[in-house]
Amino acid sequence: MKSKIPSNLMFLTQKRLTLRLLETYEGHSGYEFPWSMFRFLPFGGQSVYHDFHHSHNSGNYGSFFTYLDILFGTNKEFQTFIRDSKNDKNSLKNTADKS
Ligand SMILES: [Zn+2]
Repeated sequence: MKSKIPSNLMFLTQKRLTLRLLETYEGHSGYEFPWSMFRFLPFGGQSVYHDFHHSHNSGNYGSFFTYLDILFGTNKEFQTFIRDSKNDKNSLKNTADKS
């Protein structure tokens, strides 16, 4: 009996599932891979972005795409965290340079 599901739909579903699983593994790996194909996506999230979601239980709901977090402002705490981290690094560097 021939399947009623078009073969191209099955093909696309398998490819989408494969891409989604690869992105999920990478997003939860805790590593930033410079060669990742997901880095080239506009509004694509990286491992650091999604790690914040799990470590702080706040915001950054998207991992594959971040545009909804931007649109609804659910990544503001992350933006503040990144900005404060950079300021802390700069203040540590300035302290080390003076000593
Ligand atoms: Zn997750």
